[in-house]
Amino acid sequence: MKIVFATNNAHKLQEVRQILGERFEVVGLKDIGCHEDIPENAETLEGNALEKARYVKEHYGLDCFADDTGLEVTALGGAPGVHTARYAELFGEGITHDSNANMALLLHNLEKKSDRSARFRTVIALIYKGEEHLFEGVCEGEILSERHGTEGFGYDPVFRPTGFDRCFAQMSAEEKNAISHRGRATRKLVEFLKGS
Ligand code: IMP
Repeated sequence: MKIVFATNNAHKLQEVRQILGERFEVVGLKDIGCHEDIPENAETLEGNALEKARYVKEHYGLDCFADDTGLEVTALGGAPGVHTARYAELFGEGITHDSNANMALLLHNLEKKSDRSARFRTVIALIYKGEEHLFEGVCEGEILSERHGTEGFGYDPVFRPTGFDRCFAQMSAEEKNAISHRGRATRKLVEFLKGS
């Protein structure tokens, strides 16, 4: 059975293919000839994930799933949340869109805060056999005051998951996947699809 993962991220595609096995042929956006930017204008992770999945269903007629991830920092009222990827671009002062700028703004905004708790949250929206389903994965942790490690991407150098003495950027991909927000949401999706 063919199913679209609304992403152009080869790493994410590979990860899901490995977990799902041969019953499902998981293809990416490029594989279905979708080269346009899919709109992501919602104010929640759920809304954005659904918007992307619905776009593919409407324009290409294929069953599809899409994900959206946010970092929710308690002392910042849940920010950057849905704006995690573009935090510095949207809320910084003249700084550009990249992980270093994002982390710099986050560390700056937390300078005087004692509560450093935060969580990564991933939502996957699936449209399958005419029905919509949502799967959530959460990883609780805290924001360090300095960057550590060289693995991973995004905010990994400043996010330490609860119960660990290392941040994400100091873990192997396998170690991180076992406890990460995206790993947890993906395993829920896979469980559902395998049982369907
Ligand atoms: P996306 O929805 O997967 O594109 O994630 C949105 C943004 O969240 C990314 O651009 C990263 O900045 C951040 N992010 C998502 N997942 C992770 C992660 O596992 N580690 C660090 N940052 C992440």
